[in-house]
Amino acid sequence: MKEVRLSLEQTAEVARLYAAMEEQYDQVAAALNFGCSGCPDNCCDSYFQHHTYLEWAYLWLGFRQLPAEEQERLLVRSREYIVATEAAMARDERPQAMCPLNESGLCTLYSYRLMVCRTHGVPARMTRPDGQVLSFPGCFRCQEQVGEQGLPEDSLPLVERTTHLRRLAELENELFAGRRRLYPRLRLTIAQMLVQGPPAVATPHCER
Ligand code: SF4
Ligand code: SF4
Repeated sequence: MKEVRLSLEQTAEVARLYAAMEEQYDQVAAALNFGCSGCPDNCCDSYFQHHTYLEWAYLWLGFRQLPAEEQERLLVRSREYIVATEAAMARDERPQAMCPLNESGLCTLYSYRLMVCRTHGVPARMTRPDGQVLSFPGCFRCQEQVGEQGLPEDSLPLVERTTHLRRLAELENELFAGRRRLYPRLRLTIAQMLVQGPPAVATPHCER
């Protein structure tokens, strides 16, 4: 197995993409007068699986910078998270457990958090490669706040995720020299990304 590492240029590209996502999110949040401050919930306990080696490798850039004791503490918490979420799935329930990186409501690896963490909250839209348009109304609190302000649903400002997702897919493909399709698909939680270590892949059969 060979570790999937980001070059300096790829690291800079991911940082640029994440910054663009944040900028668009902030613009929409400001237009809706929406913010997370005072939220009684914390959506870091929502169950998400992530799909790119790129985000996984970038997360590890941040994780590696933490002191060894902190890494170990987060890994213990990640293993507990995996046990809890697998138990919930065995009961046929949708898992709900706090992300192991969330400490007292704050993200330990905020600058390295994944795309979903940067886009959840405000209304959004995306067009899938097959042309189907998907709409996301925003989190429960955003929907409440929008409702209280009496803003018309059909003309709400929203984040257009399509361009960002396309760029993410391009960068992911570049990470594998244009051969991403030869490598296994990913469906991992953040806890699994931490416990499994940095991303690593075997050389595909057809390349040997
Ligand atoms: S995104 Fe929504 S649910 Fe999550 S913390 Fe912010 S206000 Fe709360
Ligand atoms: S990585 Fe950070 S922002 Fe994302 S779910 Fe975990 S604690 Fe929350």
